[in-house]
Amino acid sequence: MNKLYFYNTLTRQKEEFKPIDNNRVGVYTCGPTVYNYAHIGNLRSYVFADLLVKILRYNFGKSNVRWVMNITDVEDKTIRDSKIKYPDLAPMEALKKFTAEFEGIFWLDTAKLNIAKPDFIAHAADAAYVKKMQALIKNIFKAGYAYIKDGSVYFDVVKYSKKYKYGLLVDIDVSKLKSGERVDDDEYEKDNVQDFVLWKGQKAGEPFWDFELDGQKLPGRPGWHIECSAMGEAALGMPFDIHTGGVDLKFPHHENEIHQSVIGYGVKKPVNYWLHNEHLLVDGQRMGKRFNNFYTLKDLEEKNLDPLAYRFLCLQTGYGKVMNFTWQALESAAEGLRHLQNQVRGLNSSSKLGFFARIFGKSQVNSKFKNPFLEAINDDLNMPRALAAAQELLKSDLADEEKLATIIDFDKVLGLGLKNLGKIEKTIIPDEIEKLAKARLEARQNKNWQEADRLRLEIEKFGYLAEDTKNGQRISKK
Ligand code: AMP
Ligand code: ZN
Repeated sequence: MNKLYFYNTLTRQKEEFKPIDNNRVGVYTCGPTVYNYAHIGNLRSYVFADLLVKILRYNFGKSNVRWVMNITDVEDKTIRDSKIKYPDLAPMEALKKFTAEFEGIFWLDTAKLNIAKPDFIAHAADAAYVKKMQALIKNIFKAGYAYIKDGSVYFDVVKYSKKYKYGLLVDIDVSKLKSGERVDDDEYEKDNVQDFVLWKGQKAGEPFWDFELDGQKLPGRPGWHIECSAMGEAALGMPFDIHTGGVDLKFPHHENEIHQSVIGYGVKKPVNYWLHNEHLLVDGQRMGKRFNNFYTLKDLEEKNLDPLAYRFLCLQTGYGKVMNFTWQALESAAEGLRHLQNQVRGLNSSSKLGFFARIFGKSQVNSKFKNPFLEAINDDLNMPRALAAAQELLKSDLADEEKLATIIDFDKVLGLGLKNLGKIEKTIIPDEIEKLAKARLEARQNKNWQEADRLRLEIEKFGYLAEDTKNGQRISKK
């Protein structure tokens, strides 16, 4: 078994990964807040989580990795916008209908990026999970680290920080903490550390669940952080192996998740490895809905850019590095991806064994080329190095069948759809293109190069490529 390393935010260093349960791994990813389209910055964090899961599956086997994602469907923004869109519906009904629409779009977007569907998807507004969040809040309250104020419940950070370290994922100066200062918003800065909300008392016209604590009736809804503690425990148990999210989630979201679980579930270390992806920037600023500088996959598609080109672009930068988005960079990634796809198509058409042999596993993955690839992906997801290893393979003088089997094996991690390229596509070349291709072939046989060239350009205009290989003319999608 190869060693696997991750940079762990908890220890601020790269560490060897050791799962709690020898050969099984649990991963929890903070899912989207479904009040709008996911922008490509958000999607960078899901490409990252998907890569991580694919790498774990490559090492441990598919069925030994359990990937859990939550959907944040109840919070300030989903409530606000669902009321605007469906003013005539009851608040809970409006919330569910509104968030289901954006969640559907999210799954379509992630599928276009070849992001696997998580094994387990948990919705925060699901009554069964709300019950689990309430049970967790009760535990924290019983342990003496929560208090009720004006119909809401807060976590007592001041009391907690006297006994436990507060500031595990980010450095926090707890000396500035003042007892009884509270924050109701789910998002705030770390220089503004205060007691945070576990349960928000009902506001008029908002969806709510009944809750009773310490003999008091507290209709309301969960705070943001409690959702992930309760759903993580429900889906993976406590402690579990890996938790992911963008760097902005380190504080307060993930920091507070840890402390809720420490008290409420009585575990010292709820999660062993915390992995965070850096941001996607535009003109030096973080891409974000609130900054109004974001693009969605729809924007890419309107420019005729394949969403997978964006995945390819993400692979070219380490997840721990900020990545500045430009259309030019995306266009070069699209070009690079086309080149890679064409290399694979070329192998497919020249391979003696071809598609069926591949399916029946007659060709072998080459270990000499697999090793550097594996080392790269296992070195904290070093995808730029993994892509270089793939290019080394394609440039080598290995037999085409072996090259093909190996690159298709790599694609279990890369997720660039390489397995589906090649012979299979020939069946879906439109008749119009087939006719042009046939005419071009005839022109070439008659040595009418000018006409052959004209036909090649004509074929390209329709988005197809005509190439001459040692096995004859090959038509593929551009
Ligand atoms: P949200 O839907 O706002 O809860 O965010 C979903 C995920 O996207 C979280 O993991 C965020 O940390 C992440 N995220 C938000 N903005 C960016 C960005 N500009 N670049 C990369 N990840 C981001
Ligand atoms: Zn979360």
